[in-house]
Order: sequence, then structure tokens, then C-alpha cells
Amino acid sequence: MNNVFRCVSWVGVLMAFVFGLWLPQMTEAASGQSHELNYFQTSKVKIAGSNALRIEIGMTGEEPRYTVKELSFLRKQLIITLPNTEKGKVKSLIPLKSDFATQVKISEVGENLQIAIDFVNPPSSDKYRISTLPAERRKKKPARIVVEMFNGNASNGADNVPGIKGKTIVVDAGHGGSDSGAVGPTGVKEKDVTFAVAKKVQKLLTGSGARVIMTRSRDMDVYAPNATDRQELQARCDVANRDSRTALFLSIHCNAFSSPSAHGMETYYCAGSAKGQEFASLLNEELAKAGGLFNRGVKTANYYVLRHTNMPASLIELGFVTNYNEERLLRSDAYQNKLASAIVRGIARYFKG
Ligand SMILES: [Zn+2]
Repeated sequence: MNNVFRCVSWVGVLMAFVFGLWLPQMTEAASGQSHELNYFQTSKVKIAGSNALRIEIGMTGEEPRYTVKELSFLRKQLIITLPNTEKGKVKSLIPLKSDFATQVKISEVGENLQIAIDFVNPPSSDKYRISTLPAERRKKKPARIVVEMFNGNASNGADNVPGIKGKTIVVDAGHGGSDSGAVGPTGVKEKDVTFAVAKKVQKLLTGSGARVIMTRSRDMDVYAPNATDRQELQARCDVANRDSRTALFLSIHCNAFSSPSAHGMETYYCAGSAKGQEFASLLNEELAKAGGLFNRGVKTANYYVLRHTNMPASLIELGFVTNYNEERLLRSDAYQNKLASAIVRGIARYFKG
């Protein structure tokens, strides 16, 4: 697949509101601080080998917050609303020479900024993606919202995995931010492994047309730094539960034990959930085949994210970061790729039924 997705930090927010429903974006609560738009750039890119249009909208502040609304009837528009944002030096009307969109209109509505993108075809979640990128100070780029528009069939590339197109899957990279999770003997952090694998899973899934929501889009706490476990885990469940389309919840972890000899992979589901069991079993089969670690099996556990998510869910332990050999594997890019492909195969088999 194309590299376009590789560096993109997808915020787990593809907010597709076909019926004009507004929902808050899933980052921190409003800070009350005002932002200013100061960057607008379009570029032609390739997504899954096909032409795509990329719009980057930058603003002051650390992490852009926004809501999205799709209009498909009288106007074919995608409307992105940025709370507490002023227009800054960017033009109000920007014509686009593209097969995907004709113009962008930027207007202040009260304290908010509204960005209306006129699509050529009705905007739907298989025709565009939104993510955010952090500021890159060396390149003098501010924090940005990235909108990418493409043909709905652009995902039929070589990496396409059938059966998952249009499905909404929440991918939870365990730990993050102030919580590093388990740490291996050479310092490999669980939060980094889970995030790396989650990003690879996200890339493969979106490349096959799935709608992926990440509980975290970078090394961060989902609730707040140093929150209680319950607050942090509930925040992850909330990401999944607030979108009625979420079909699966996958939480990615690495195991740890006081003895470095503990080793192997295992997958979990919530007792009593037949679909959770099926999901965890398929993931287990694929991970066992691809990863080659000792298979500790498919198990039930009272894990918070399994109990408090409203859809079939599985928590997977990729391996023991406290085991020398498995730590080495878990930090390897090639091994992470193997695991991500296995996870996606498990997800595809789940949807095939
Ligand atoms: Zn963990």
C-alpha cells in the first residue's frame, strides 16, 4: 500500500454524520483557549495507488479539535467546525482544481470557525478521511487537520482484505502518555509496542476500506495524565461506545511477569460473550500462526475494557515484554508487521462469519 498513511497520525475520529447529527470530537474537554487558523495547503497524493486530494489546515495550539458534518442532499459538503478558532490570515474562499472538491469556504460562526469543503460527489466515510498531525517545528508547520479525499474504490489495492469494507473498528493501543505499561529488560515500553502495532493494524484496515477509530492517536493518556485506571479505561470504552456503528473493539497489550521466563501470546474475551469468544479465538489462531510464540490460549478475564464496551471485544497480549527473546521480537518492525497482518486476518475472518 501507499506510504501516505504511514506518517499520518489518525485521530480516531472519522465522524461521518449522514443525518446531520453532531457529536463532540473525542479529545480533551474545551480548554476555552482561542486558536487561529494560520496554514492552508492542498496537495495531490496517492492513496492505495489512486489519486487523492489532501488538504492540510493548520492552527495555533497543540492538538486540533473539531467536529465534522456531512451534507449530501442540497449541497455536497463536508463541514468541519473548529471550536474557539479565528480565521487568521487564511483566505475566505479557496477554489480547488481537483476531481474531488471544487472549493473551500472558511467563515467565522460565533466563536467557532467553519470550514466547508464542496465535494464533487456526496461525501461519505469511504470517500474521505480526517486525521490530525502534530506541529513540526523544524518544518515550520503548525498542528494540522488533514482531510484526504479519494475515490470510494481506491481501497481495492494489493493490500485489500475482503470482508471488512465499511466496518467500524475501534483499535485501542494499551497504555500511553503517563502510563508506559510494562517495561522490558532493555527498556522497551509496552505503550510503544502497542501503539506501533495498532498503527499498523489501522493502516491495513483502512487500506481495506474499514473505518478505524483509534482510542489514542499518539503517545498520550486518553483521559488525562495520571488518572485512575478506571477513568483511563472508561475513556477508552467511551470512544467505542459513543459511536453506534462500532462493530468490534480490539485492545492491544503486551504481557509482563516478575520472572523473565514467562512467555507466550494469549487472547481474552469477556465471559458470556459468544461473539467476543469467536473474535478472540480467531485472533488467537492467526497470531499463533504468524507470531510463532507459545500459545497460552483463548481466555476469559474480567478486564475493564472487555466488560464496559457494548460490542464484541477482545484484549490481546502479544507476548511478554519482560522476556528477553519476546522483548526483542516485540520491538522489531518486521515482527510487528507480522502481528498486525495476523490481527487483520482475524478481523476479516470474524466478519466473514
Ligand atoms: Zn497492558
